[in-house]
Amino acid sequence: MYNITLPSGIEAEIREMTGAEEEILTNQRLIKSGAAINQVLKNCLVRLGENENPSMNDVLDLLSGDRLSLLVALRKVSLGHEVSLELMCPNPTCHEVNALTIDLESLETKPFSQDRDFTFQLPASKRTVRYRHMDGHMEKRLAALKEPSVSSAMTMRVVTIDEKPPTKKVMTDMTLRDRHALRNEMERVNAGIDTTVTSECFACGQRLRTRLESEPGFLFPGAAW
Ligand SMILES: [Zn+2]
Repeated sequence: MYNITLPSGIEAEIREMTGAEEEILTNQRLIKSGAAINQVLKNCLVRLGENENPSMNDVLDLLSGDRLSLLVALRKVSLGHEVSLELMCPNPTCHEVNALTIDLESLETKPFSQDRDFTFQLPASKRTVRYRHMDGHMEKRLAALKEPSVSSAMTMRVVTIDEKPPTKKVMTDMTLRDRHALRNEMERVNAGIDTTVTSECFACGQRLRTRLESEPGFLFPGAAW
């Protein structure tokens, strides 16, 4: 068993992944719905704070920053801390495959503050927005959306605008200036482990950027894709 402290301060205990979890992670249906990661987190979470039998609901209650940290920790204890990536250069005249190795120990984590509920005044309309952190429930709803828009995640985090639940119309009518300010404000309070990988193509210098957890090498090292 392994103990870790999540970015929100919760102490968790995990066990390493087994064949059962590999089965779940290779099930395309479960992957598409986002259920695979939730099931793996639930299976491998032995303790969450004082809770010695974390339920699926407990897993979904966790902030997204905590959930990603858990996933990285699980990867580390199950498959080691070195992740080999093969990033294809997006430059159409290049398409060189860049091999990179990332050490999970070197990722930076920003702890969450104690606040769970935030208010922000939009600069243009002067409306007051109440919003929260992204959590597993929201991630699940996002994964179920047929056509997620650029603002789906932002909308989901909004609790009220001028003390009323946000309607789709209020969100789409919001000026770009207000939307941009709100997005920046939400980003400001975001915390957790930073899994962004940036590099430059060794052949043409093009900027490469990805998220570790979206790369096959993160959970399936050595698999042929
Ligand atoms: Zn290139």
